[in-house]
Amino acid sequence: MKEYDVVVIGGSAAGLTAAITAKRFYPEKTVLIIRKEKKVLIPCGIPYIYGTIDAIEKNLIPDTILGNNGIDLLVGEVTEIKKDESIVKTAKNDSVKYSKLMIATGSEPVIPPIEGASKKGVFIVKKDDEYLSILLEEVNKARDIVIIGGGFIGMEFADECKKNRDINISILEMLPHCLMLVFDEEFCTQGEDLIIKRGINVVTNEKVEAITGNGKVESIRLSSGKILKADIVLIGIGAKPNVKLARDAGIEINEKDFIKVNRYMQTSNHNIFACGDCCEKNSFFNKEPVNLMLASIATTEARIAGANLYEINRANEGVIGTYSTVIGDIALARTGLSVYEAKKYGYDIVVGQVEGPNCHPGCMPGGSNLKVSLMFEKGTGIIIGGQLIGAKSGGELINLISGCINKRMTADDIATFQMGTHPALTASPIAYQISNAAEVAVKKLKG
Ligand SMILES: Cc1cc2nc3c(=O)[nH]c(=O)nc-3n(C[C@H](O)[C@H](O)[C@H](O)COP(=O)(O)OP(=O)(O)OC[C@H]3O[C@@H](n4cnc5c(N)ncnc54)[C@H](O)[C@@H]3O)c2cc1C
Repeated sequence: MKEYDVVVIGGSAAGLTAAITAKRFYPEKTVLIIRKEKKVLIPCGIPYIYGTIDAIEKNLIPDTILGNNGIDLLVGEVTEIKKDESIVKTAKNDSVKYSKLMIATGSEPVIPPIEGASKKGVFIVKKDDEYLSILLEEVNKARDIVIIGGGFIGMEFADECKKNRDINISILEMLPHCLMLVFDEEFCTQGEDLIIKRGINVVTNEKVEAITGNGKVESIRLSSGKILKADIVLIGIGAKPNVKLARDAGIEINEKDFIKVNRYMQTSNHNIFACGDCCEKNSFFNKEPVNLMLASIATTEARIAGANLYEINRANEGVIGTYSTVIGDIALARTGLSVYEAKKYGYDIVVGQVEGPNCHPGCMPGGSNLKVSLMFEKGTGIIIGGQLIGAKSGGELINLISGCINKRMTADDIATFQMGTHPALTASPIAYQISNAAEVAVKKLKG
């Protein structure tokens, strides 16, 4: 029987980061990753296979990372965790003994119970290279594509499939707007307008009644009776945690079906850790369970879990929830709470919003507008959320705002923090969006 100090189940964002962190903190320990797939896709890059990068092979996590970090690999499916014996077993009957186990088994796409969902031509967003190759062939032949779900994944797929193809694409969303679970109305309607301007048909406030066609999908029937033609239907409505292994091993699962972990990422068995989409997440703000599954959250958890394997070094303060996407050349991003969520959680809030060029003067090459909105708690002045739309540099700015939330900075702290600026690289120091949005809020907080 093989024996390792640390065995990690899962080789994607969470598993790989946890293994690298384990090696950084405990270089003398032997680390093995066991994962199902031969090749690991960059999960967030999947939509870009259908347009910008146009090939599956360009969207892989290179296995050289494993060798470079002294991590061993076993490709196979773990079928059982025998926690009393500290052994995992695979489908090919390999047994591996561990002293510490990391479960990073991720998530799987949700398939809604829609009539006709099993017809040929209906796809979900599986993190599986062979399956996604078939989807690429079908997209290349398609005339009409319907995407069910107007979240990030649906929007990104629609935008990418439209690139270099003369085809009809519709996004179907049951809420009044796309991206509505993430952004406040002002930002999601702007995002929706952008995708419409790029030639995508957006149908909101509509549910799918049935996917119809003779064996293969031909159309979609909506609750209003409207029919949308479709050669391909892509369902992108969310994911569910992959917890079967853990559950079968008697590891505690929470009421939302995630693996229960403490703030050190230990499961109910303290030699077994979990991180990523499969494990429980609690809000940074009120510690209540949240359903967010993002690679950025998965890797943060992995850095905490990997560091804590043999001694507690880090604690998880909870999920802030920082997202970003891009439609054409326009970035949309959000961190912390939305106004809707803040009010639901009982916060009394103040919002500061500004808009301006991302370079100075604004006529510099590549110059673009960037609107930033920051939200603070009224009594304390502490930042609890931020949203932005505009220049691609917003993709990094949202991370800075997330850092401000993490450190519980006040509007005054942000208005007076020291930034570095350059004409070609940033907004002007006079018009620097986050300082000015905070300054607008300071005025309201004091007023
Ligand atoms: C299309 C798309 C776009 C996305 N875009 C973004 C984005 O822009 N930004 C962002 O932050 N997030 C994004 N996400 C979310 C992100 O992909 C996930 O949060 C991330 O993949 C979670 O990583 P993970 O390692 O926890 O799980 P997964 O990526 O699901 O990986 C799970 C791993 O466990 C392995 N495994 C499972 N069961 C077993 C078993 N029994 N035996 C052996 N191995 C097993 C799998 O083979 C895999 O290696 C996107 C997701 C999708 C689908």
